[in-house]
Parts: sequence; C-alpha cells; structure tokens
Amino acid sequence: MILESSSDSDGHIIDRFGRPFTIMRISITHDCNFKCFFCHMEGEDPSSKSYLTPEEIGMVAEAASRLGVRRFKITGGEPTIRRDLPEIIKEIKEKGRAEDISMTTNGVLLRNMATKLREAGLDRVNISLHSLDPEKFYQITGTKLMDRVLEGVDAAISAGFKQIKINMVILKNFNEDDVWRLIDFVRGKKIVLQLIELHPVGEGRKIFTRFHTFLDDVEEKLSKISKMRIRKELHNRPIYYLEGGGAVEIVRPVKNPIFCAACTRIRLTADGYLKPCLVRNDNLVSIKEILRMDIDRERKIEMLIEALLIANSRREPSAYWRIGEEFEREVHRYLGNGALADGTRRIRISIPKKPQPNIRFVDMPIPIALNSTATARVNTGYKYKIEDLL
Ligand code: SAM
Repeated sequence: MILESSSDSDGHIIDRFGRPFTIMRISITHDCNFKCFFCHMEGEDPSSKSYLTPEEIGMVAEAASRLGVRRFKITGGEPTIRRDLPEIIKEIKEKGRAEDISMTTNGVLLRNMATKLREAGLDRVNISLHSLDPEKFYQITGTKLMDRVLEGVDAAISAGFKQIKINMVILKNFNEDDVWRLIDFVRGKKIVLQLIELHPVGEGRKIFTRFHTFLDDVEEKLSKISKMRIRKELHNRPIYYLEGGGAVEIVRPVKNPIFCAACTRIRLTADGYLKPCLVRNDNLVSIKEILRMDIDRERKIEMLIEALLIANSRREPSAYWRIGEEFEREVHRYLGNGALADGTRRIRISIPKKPQPNIRFVDMPIPIALNSTATARVNTGYKYKIEDLL
C-alpha cells in the first residue's frame, strides 16, 4: 500500500506540518581520520560498520528523486575516506537526477581528489576548519594536518566547485577569537564562512555546557561590518555579505524557534536507515532489508518510496535538545526549540495544516517570554504558533 501524501507546487511531498521534503542528507561512513572532540556524528550510531554500496545509495536517491528531491548532501564520518566516493557521487547524480550535490568534509584528502570529485558531479563542498591556529587545530582534530586542509581548500577552488564553504563550529573560550581570522581568510578567497552553533548531540552533548555559546556577539559585530544581510529559508539562517568579497552564514539551532520548523530534510544513515531528525533515533525506518531483498530493482524502488513516505510521516518540527540544567535555564530564557531536560516542559512549534510553499522568513521576535504563545511572522503572512506544552 502506498501512503497518501500531499505535495507542494514544486512537486515535493510535504509532511503533516506542511514542510516539504527537498533535501536528502546521505551519510556514507562512520569512519573518520580526525577525532573532533565535539562531533555529533550526524546523530548516528558510529559503532555500526555495515555500509551501503554506491548502487544501494543510488537506489535510495532514485526513490527520493521520484518524490521530487533534486538536492543531496554527502557526509559522514569522513566521506573522502571511501575509495568509491566518485562512484557514489555518479550514482546520486544519475539515478537521483540530482541538480545539486554537496559534500561536507574535513578537507584533508581533498588536495588529490577535488578535481576528480568535481568531474564525478559534485557541485559544492563544505570544508570544516574550526581554527587557523595549528595548536588549536591539533587540540580539536587530534591531527597536525592543518596545512593539508588549507591545500584542500585551494584544490577545491582550483577544481571549480560552484560554492565552497568553510564550516566552523564556535566553541566558548576556545576558538571564538578565530572567527575574525577566518573571516579575513574567506574574504581573501571570496568563499563563504559558515558559523555553526554547537549542537548537544553525540560527543557534542558531553562537552556542551563547557563549550556552548550563543553567537550573538559575533553576529552583532558582523552586522556592523557587512554590506548586506539576507535570511535563508533553510533553518532561518542569516547570511552577511562582507565588504571586499566573501560571506558569513550563521547556523543557530538553539536560540532559533523556527530552526526545525524550516527543516526540509530526510537523512540516510551510512548503515541503511532513513532518519527523519538529527537529534532522534526513535523514529528511524530501516531500509537495508529492502535493498538486499532478492527482488527486481523496480520493485525495490517502489518499496523505498513507501519507506520514504513513512519517514516523511514521522518528521516533526521540534527538536528534543536534552541538556544539562545550567543550559536549560538559558534555553528557558530564550525559548529555544524543543524539549528541555527530561520530564520538564516542552516547546512545540505547530504549523497550520495548509501547506505554504516558498515561505521566506523575516526577523523573529527573540527572545520570547516562556509561558506565552507567540507567533513568528513570515512574509506570506503565514504564522507559526509557538506553544508552551506542559
Ligand atoms: N567529517 C566531515 C567534516 O568534518 O566536515 C563530515 C561530517 S561532520 C559530522 C559534518 C559537519 O558537522 C561538520 O561541519 C562539523 O563541523 C559539524 N559538527 C560536528 N559536530 C558538531 C556539533 N556538535 N555541533 C555542531 N556542528 C557539528
């Protein structure tokens, strides 16, 4: 039986909160050659080492493409340590009829493979670089390979990717000052710096209280030195365009009441589960059995489409940040997204049933007092109700 589903005007299926499914985030390995002490590991179980083959990933991409998905993101673990990465990209490109494939990498192996990956069909690349100080780089990654990463950035520029972003996770009292060096770095290379607020997920959860900081100070300074700011629909992300070239994009999940409300993703884990949300593993849909059944390919694709519809029906626009008491008070102050600590009150963002494609977010009224019902304005006049659930 195929589940009933609605779609938006672009043909994407929508979930029960009206959010379209437009991007598939594909993790292809749990292995990594770095040991970043805050890694969220994409919310996956890193002990599982049974990975999907390029052909299997291609089948999932094909099923997603029949539901209107044209954008794919490859991640891990470290995706570049899979020798069959070019094959995986080609499968996604061809079978998934991809219009945009991007990849998140630590960049250390990019020097020798950037051109090959571009030729295979990779459009954009995000390179993680959390500091330009070799000692801090070592403390974060457990390696002394910063120069290799810098060579990887140059190789990516030479390979002609459509966009190159530097991903930097901001860590309190550790690399906050490095932001300004990295801003000069991206300005010089005319690429984008993406500043990411630490997520309390995976290893990030263990060190969260010590290293988490809101990105307000950085953002305030940025607003003074930028020539223009826009707000991106995905995750309600602001982007600051710098004088002299380059840009800074900000990913703030915690103090962003509509971060999850604007999510348009389903994830595919390296070991073959559809994962509707980064921070949850209680709603996974296993598809390994389908991929490895002895039936013809077309029947597998049909079953994968059903599995995607089930995963889509499990998508929920509220994060369940389960965090320590000290931080919980902060979130109460700012009315962040989702659950606070176990057993305490929960914030849910409810979205009217009627789908509203192509919404664009405008500034949110933050902070919002707890115990209130607030609305987030979007420029269609469409309103998200933010409720305080007991
Ligand atoms: N190994 C690749 C890399 O280093 O980019 C891809 C996997 S990594 C999990 C994907 C992205 O998530 C990276 O940009 C990384 O910096 C970011 N990330 C990892 N842990 C995080 C956390 N706890 N909070 C926020 N972002 C995190």
